[in-house]
Amino acid sequence: MHPRSVGREATAMPRKQTKAADARPKDRRASPAKSVAARGARAAVQARASAWVLALPDQLTQDIGPLARDRHAGVILVESDEWMSRRPYHRQRLALLLLNAREFAEECRAAGRAVHCAQGRASIVDLVRSAHRELGAEGPIVCMQPAEHEMRAELAPLVKEGVLSFVAHEGWMTTADDLGPMPKGGWRMDAFYRRVRKRLDIMVDDAGRPEGGAWSFDAENRERWDGVPAAPEPPVFAMTARRTEVEREVNERFSHHPGAVDVQVLPATLRETHQLWSWALRACLPHFGPFEDAMSTRSRGLFHSRISPLLNVMRILPRRLVDDVLALDIPLACREGFVRQVIGWREFVRHVHDATQGFRTGLGAATGTVAKAPGDGGFARWSGKGWTTAGSAPAGVDGGARPSWAARAGGGATPLPPAFWGAPSGLRCLDQVVEGVWAEAWSHHITRLMVLGNLATLLDVDPRELTDWFWVAYMDAWDWVVEPNVLGMATYSAGEVMTTKPYVCGSAYIRKMGDFCDGCRFTPGTTCPITPMYWAFLGRHEASLRDNPRMSLVMGSVRKRSADQRRDDQRVASIVCELLVHGKPVTVESLR
Ligand SMILES: Cc1cc2nc3c(=O)[nH]c(=O)nc-3n(C[C@H](O)[C@H](O)[C@H](O)COP(=O)(O)OP(=O)(O)OC[C@H]3O[C@@H](n4cnc5c(N)ncnc54)[C@H](O)[C@@H]3O)c2cc1C
Ligand code: SF4
Repeated sequence: MHPRSVGREATAMPRKQTKAADARPKDRRASPAKSVAARGARAAVQARASAWVLALPDQLTQDIGPLARDRHAGVILVESDEWMSRRPYHRQRLALLLLNAREFAEECRAAGRAVHCAQGRASIVDLVRSAHRELGAEGPIVCMQPAEHEMRAELAPLVKEGVLSFVAHEGWMTTADDLGPMPKGGWRMDAFYRRVRKRLDIMVDDAGRPEGGAWSFDAENRERWDGVPAAPEPPVFAMTARRTEVEREVNERFSHHPGAVDVQVLPATLRETHQLWSWALRACLPHFGPFEDAMSTRSRGLFHSRISPLLNVMRILPRRLVDDVLALDIPLACREGFVRQVIGWREFVRHVHDATQGFRTGLGAATGTVAKAPGDGGFARWSGKGWTTAGSAPAGVDGGARPSWAARAGGGATPLPPAFWGAPSGLRCLDQVVEGVWAEAWSHHITRLMVLGNLATLLDVDPRELTDWFWVAYMDAWDWVVEPNVLGMATYSAGEVMTTKPYVCGSAYIRKMGDFCDGCRFTPGTTCPITPMYWAFLGRHEASLRDNPRMSLVMGSVRKRSADQRRDDQRVASIVCELLVHGKPVTVESLR
C-alpha cells in the first residue's frame, strides 16, 4: 500500500514554527530574472521561433490555442518565486506545478519548438518583460487569456505596454453566453447545465429530452460506503531524475511552505496523466455515482477521479474527459453524475467568477469589500512565522473579494482555528480530513463541503480567510474555482448569487455518509457538539434565513426549539468556538 493510502501521514501536518522568522524564500539567485537557455544557443532558438507564446503555469498544453495552430511558435515558461510564495502554498502544489511545467518544456522541445524558461525571484510580470527584451521579440508575446482573475489583473500592465497580448482561452467547453446575464435571484447550476447539455448535444435525444428521462440522477447518488466494492488505489509513478530534482528543490527552496511532498503520486508527463485518467475510467467511474457523497477513513479518495489538479493546469482537457466518460458502458447515474461535475459545476463556477470579477461586483444585497493583500489562510498566526505579502505582490494584485452575507447576519468574524493547520480539535471528522489534506493537498468534494466548509461556517469563520486556506492547502485551487466553491457555495457569503442556501449540517449527516463517528470521543445525537452548533448557527442567522424557501422546513424546526434549547445550543457553540480558536481540543467534559 502506498503512503497515499490512509495511515502514514502523521508527519505530513504543517510544522508549527516557534520562532518568528523571515518567511520570504531564501533564494540562492541574486538576479531578479535569469534565463536557463544557454547564451550560445539563444540566437539559434530565436531564429527558430515564428512567434513567442507564454504558457502560464495553468496552461501546459500544446493541443489548443496559439501553440496548436503554430507549430513553429516558441514557448516561454515562467518559474517565479514571488508567485509561488505569494501565499504559503502546500509544497505538494509547488511540486505538481514544477514537475509538470518542466515536463511540458521537454515536450515542447521534443516537438521542435524553441523554449525559454525564465526563472527568478521576480514576479511573473517582470520575468515576462525581461524575456520579451532578451528574446528581442518583435511583436507582443501571445498568451491565452488567464482563467484566474488575479493573473489577468497582474498581467494587465504588460498588455497595456504591448509586451503581451491575450487571445481567447480555448480550454473550456462553454462560453459566457451559456451563463447569460444574472437572472433575478441569481444563477443556478442546474439551469446552466441543461442549456449546455442541449447546446452541446450531450446525453439528449433528437427532441432535446435528457437520456433516462431526467437531467440529473443526483438523488440516486447518495449511498454510504461500507467497504464494498473495494476502493481503488491510485497509481504511483516511478522515481525519475526529474522527480528527485523537484522533490529536493521544493524541500530546500520552499522549505518555509507547509505540507508534505510526495512526488511519486504526481503525474508529470502526459503519459502519466493519461495513466491516472485511465485508472479513473476503469476503477472509479463504474462506482462514481452511488458513492459520490460518501466519506471514509479507510479511503480518502473513494471513487473520485483525482483529476482536478491536472485538469486545472490543462494536462488533460475537459472535452477529453467528457468524451471518454460518455463512451463508457457504465450505469447512467455514474455517467451523468460525472459529466455534470465537469460541464456543469466546473464550467458554471468559472463563468460566475468571471461575470462577477471574482465576486467583486454584481452581488446584489451581498456586497462586500476587497482584501488589500493576498491572505495566508491564518498560516502566520498558526505558525508564528510572518508571511506578509503586503507591498511585495505586483500592481493589480489584491487579496480577493470579501462578500458579506455572513457579516450582515452578524457572523463571519471568527479567525480560522489552528485545527485547520493540524492542531487536534477532538472532532474526529475534522481532524481526519485535515490530516489528509496536509498529506495530499487534496480531498474529495464532500469532505471539503460537509466537513471543512460546514465546520468553518458553523463557527462563523471569516469566509475570506477560509477561502485563502483552501487556496493554499489544495493543489487544484485557482481563484476561479476556489472562490466560487468557498465564498459562493460552502459559506453562502455571496448570498444567492450562485446557490440557494448555506451548506450546513449536524452530526446526523456526517454519521450517515461516513465512518468518522466510529471511534470519535463524541456520540452523534448525544454528546457530539456539531448538531447543537448547527441549531445555534441557524438561530443566529434566523433573520437572514427565515424567508429562504429552501430553508423553510428547517427554519420551522428552529422556531420550535425552546428558549432553553436555544440557550444550550449557543452555549455549546460558544465553548467549541472558544476552544478551537485558541487551538485547544474539545472534550466531552468541556461541554458539560
Ligand atoms: C469548499 C470547496 C472548495 C473547492 N475548491 C476547489 C478547488 O480549489 N479546485 C477545484 O478544482 N475544485 C474545487 N472544489 C470542487 C471539488 O471538490 C473538486 O473539484 C473535486 O473534489 C476534485 O477532485 P476529483 O478530481 O476527484 O473530482 P471528481 O469527484 O472526480 O469530479 C470530477 C471533476 O468535476 C469537477 N468538479 C466537481 N465539482 C466541482 C465544483 N464544485 N467546482 C468545480 N469543479 C468541480 C472537477 O474538475 C473534478 O475533477 C471545491 C469544492 C468545495 C466544496
Ligand atoms: S461524533 Fe461528531 S465530532 Fe465526532 S466524527 Fe461524528 S460528527 Fe464528527
